[in-house]
Amino acid sequence: AVSFLQRKTAHDDRLLGGLLADGFDQKSCHSRHQSAVYRRNAGRQPSHHLISKLRSHEALQRRCGPGTAAYTNALEQLKSGRSVASPECRYLVSISYRGLGNRILAAASAFLYALLTDRVLLVDPSHMTDELFCEPFPNTTWLLPPGFPLFNYQSFYLDTPERFGRMREDGVLRTGVTNGSAPAELPAFAYIHLDYNQTDHDKLFFCDDDQRVLRDIQWLVMRTDSYIVPGLFLVKAFEEELDGLFPERDAVFHHLGRYLFHPTNQVWGLIARYYRAHLASARRVVGIQVRVFPWEAESPEILEQIKTCTQNERLLPAVLDEVEDDEPAVAGAQQPTAVLVTSLKAWYSDKMKEMYWERAAADGRVVVVEQPSHEETQRYNVRSHEHKAWAEVYLLSVADMLVTTGQSTFGYVAQGLGGLKPWVLHHVANGTVGWPCSRDVSMEPCFHVPPQYDCKRREDAGLVVPHVRHCGDLPAGLKLV
Ligand code: GDP
Repeated sequence: AVSFLQRKTAHDDRLLGGLLADGFDQKSCHSRHQSAVYRRNAGRQPSHHLISKLRSHEALQRRCGPGTAAYTNALEQLKSGRSVASPECRYLVSISYRGLGNRILAAASAFLYALLTDRVLLVDPSHMTDELFCEPFPNTTWLLPPGFPLFNYQSFYLDTPERFGRMREDGVLRTGVTNGSAPAELPAFAYIHLDYNQTDHDKLFFCDDDQRVLRDIQWLVMRTDSYIVPGLFLVKAFEEELDGLFPERDAVFHHLGRYLFHPTNQVWGLIARYYRAHLASARRVVGIQVRVFPWEAESPEILEQIKTCTQNERLLPAVLDEVEDDEPAVAGAQQPTAVLVTSLKAWYSDKMKEMYWERAAADGRVVVVEQPSHEETQRYNVRSHEHKAWAEVYLLSVADMLVTTGQSTFGYVAQGLGGLKPWVLHHVANGTVGWPCSRDVSMEPCFHVPPQYDCKRREDAGLVVPHVRHCGDLPAGLKLV
């Protein structure tokens, strides 16, 4: 038998169809070159335009990034507090906060905004960014170096005077040019607040007129825990470029994620060892993400929902009712179906495992249920916890098919990286399960707190462009389809 490591398939393209730049040192980041061997689903091809945009953006990151004269000049400008008319390089600093899924979606969103506006992306190094992800850009760093002059940027929030929405509300920043009067002096930086409690003025970020103002501000610091990309698709000024970059609108995070997020060697060790031990020999791998919160009790309803969903949708076989039933005859040794469960609790996978051991599967196949970890509580900045979380997101993404829990960014990242349109478990309302799950309309993550209206005509933002729609798992949200 050919081991999966020797598997040579059409999709065994180590640079993912040109998405990844050549010339990285392979030893420093094994995942970058090995991911194609582990992924069971080949994924989508990037457009030529995206590939060339990425190469030119990498050059921008090198020309303007930390350690360059341009960067030193830009820091001086920032310290002076004044804007400069046409700066050599412009920057976007992305704050990291909340869970791993949130942070990944935020960084991917910031990167797309940086691509569209020719800004250098620098990510906040807190939350072990450097321990989880390899550097995405060759010969430079995307980590904001220590000594950043806005020393308290990580605590920028609603009360920050330089918050964009606040400066718009107070008239410190205005859109449009008033006839005859000299253009107002711009601040050296603005803080973009796109958290759940953003104000209507903060949401002006998604309007064309406001994007024109932001263009001339050299430094932007952005806070979001969400996938704001569907909002960027509402901005007219970005439309043409986005069309060229992503002719397949449902694969935006898929490409951005595969480009940016490569597990470091330590995390890759967790992924590769688990894969080889539990998944490599499987005929089919079904990933099930059971997002429960630490304080929630074990829920027989959710368990039932998972069983019904996977059997109704023919992802997993039913089990025979009676213990005495004859097992169907199976010819020869068969490759098992592997079920990869991720959850903070072990109970759900234990019950599934029990079921497939105590009863025969109706199709006679062996179903192996495993769960890499059960951390019980959510923790932040704990190395082994963060490593496991990232390894599990990644393992889910290499499955053949995926069942996820609605509204979870952890699941969104897995489905996007994997190129998988998941079956989404509906939230159990007051102990009763209606329809257990439904197939998502696309693999794209949902933007949970988008602007409700389009900027000009005040129409429902989910109806103004054909490929931006409300999400199935969160009707107020928006997603690309
Ligand atoms: P979300 O809250 O579901 O949107 O996902 P996030 O990834 O943003 O935050 C949840 C955090 O809880 C993760 O980052 C992990 O730290 C932890 N967590 C939740 N579910 C799991 C799981 O299945 N496995 C592991 N290892 N950690 C989990």
